Amino acid sequence: MMGREVSSEKNKIDKEIFIIKVIVLIILVVSFILLTIYLVLAPKIDLKKNKEISITYPNVYKEPGYKAKSLFSDLTKKVKVKGKVNSKKIGNYKITYTVKNFLFTTVTTRMVSIVDKEKPQIVLKGHEETDVCPNAKYQEEGYEVTDNYDKDLKDKVKVKITDNEIIYTVKDSSGNEAKVIRKLIYQDKIKPNLQLKGSANLNLTAGATYLESGYTAIDNCDGDIWGNVKILGTVNPNKIGTYTLTYTVKDHAGNESTVTRKVSVSAPRKTNSGCGVLGAIYLTFDDGPNASSTAQILNVLKEEGVKATFFVTNAGPDALIKRAYDEGHTIGLHTASHKYNVVYASVNNYFNDLNSVASRVKRITGYDSKFIRFPGGSSNTVSRKYSPGIMTRLASEVVNRGYKYYDWNVDSNDAGACANSKSSSCVYNTTVKYLSKNKCNMVLMHDIKSYTADALRDVIRYGKQNGYIFKQIDSSTPIVSQGINN
Ligand code: ZN
Repeated sequence: MMGREVSSEKNKIDKEIFIIKVIVLIILVVSFILLTIYLVLAPKIDLKKNKEISITYPNVYKEPGYKAKSLFSDLTKKVKVKGKVNSKKIGNYKITYTVKNFLFTTVTTRMVSIVDKEKPQIVLKGHEETDVCPNAKYQEEGYEVTDNYDKDLKDKVKVKITDNEIIYTVKDSSGNEAKVIRKLIYQDKIKPNLQLKGSANLNLTAGATYLESGYTAIDNCDGDIWGNVKILGTVNPNKIGTYTLTYTVKDHAGNESTVTRKVSVSAPRKTNSGCGVLGAIYLTFDDGPNASSTAQILNVLKEEGVKATFFVTNAGPDALIKRAYDEGHTIGLHTASHKYNVVYASVNNYFNDLNSVASRVKRITGYDSKFIRFPGGSSNTVSRKYSPGIMTRLASEVVNRGYKYYDWNVDSNDAGACANSKSSSCVYNTTVKYLSKNKCNMVLMHDIKSYTADALRDVIRYGKQNGYIFKQIDSSTPIVSQGINN
C-alpha cells in the first residue's frame, strides 16, 4: 500500500517538471522570436550634436539634424519633430523626435536653452570723476541703461551713495549684472565768472563824468559774489591819460578772476560841423515849460549833474523858467505863440512874437537871451505857405540883431515817430542810435512830453558810460543850421 502511494507521487512530480520545462522552452522560443522581430523592426533615432544645446542670445538656433533607422532600413524621413525654439525669447525649449515602424515607436528629446550672457551697459551723464562743490550735495546728472535683451532697465538701477562715490548697479532679467562707479571729488577748481558791463575800452573826453558801468560775478559754487568784487585804480576825467581799472574777485576756494577796463581820457577835439566839440551832447528842450514834465526833467538833470538848454515859449509856469535858470541851464527863445501862421507871416510878426517871449524871460530871470530856435527849425518849409522866402530873410536878420540860432542834428523823435506810442524806450533808442563820437551832437527834445522826461536819465547814463561830455549852449557855441529851404 505504502509502495504504490510513493510511486504515484513520484510520477506526479515528474509530470509537473516536464510541464514546467515545456513552458520554459516555449517562453524562450517566443522571446527569441520577439527579440528577433524587435531587433529587425524597432527604430532607433540618433540626434546630431548634443541632446542639450545652449544658444547664446542673439544667436539663432538651427536644427542640427538627426538620423533614424531600423536594422535594415533608413527611417529618417518618417521622423516627426515637435516643438519650436523662439531664438528671440530667452527660455528652455523641448523638442520631441518621434518615429514609428510597424508596432514600434521610438521617442527621443532634445533640450534647447536660449540664454543671455551679456551684461547691461550703464552710461553715466556727466563724468565718471566729478568735481562737487565743497559742502554741496552732488546733483545727479543721470544715466542711460542699454541691454542686448531687456528694455527699460533704467527703473531697475540701484543707486548707492557713499561719502565719495556713487555706485550704480543693474541686473538684466537673466541676472547679468552691470556696475558703474561715479567718483565724487569735493573741490572747486573753477574761477568765478567775472564780466564787465559796458565797454572794456572806454574813451572819455576830458571834462566828462566817469560813470562805472558795473560788472557781474557769478561763481559755480558760491553763486552771486558781486559784492566781493574789488576795483583797483581810479579815473580822473579831468586829466588826460590812460587809466586802468582792475577788477578782482575770489571765490571761497580761493580761485581768483581778474578783468580790466581801460579808460582813455583825451582832450576835446574841435570840429567845424555841428556845435563844435566832437563827442559832446547838447540836450535841448523845446516848447516848454510844462508844470509836470519840465519839473521832472530838471530833477533828472540835477541828479545827474548835467546842464542843458531850454528853448521856451509863453506857455507854462514862470517858476520853472526861473528854476531852470537858477540851476545853471541856458534859457533860449522859441517864440511866444509857436504858431506858424503867426510867426512866419512876416519878419515883423516874427520879431514881435520873439520879443514877447524874450521879455518874459527877462522879467523872470533878468537875463537877455540871444539864443533862439526857430519853430520847425531854420530848414522848415511850412513857412513858405505863409510867406515865401521868410526863412532866408529871418536867418540873416536874427544874426544882424545879435542872435544865434540852433537847429539840431539828432532828433529824439519825441514829437515825431515816438509821439504815437508815447514810448520812452522809443525816445531813448532813437536818440542813442544817432549819437556819435565823431560829431557834436545837438539833440532835439521837447520838455512838454512826459515820455521824454521818462527817457532822459537813461539817455544821460548812456552818454556817460560811453564817454560823451554834456554841454549847454553858450556864447562860444557856433550856429547850428540844417540849411535854409525857404
Ligand atoms: Zn517847437
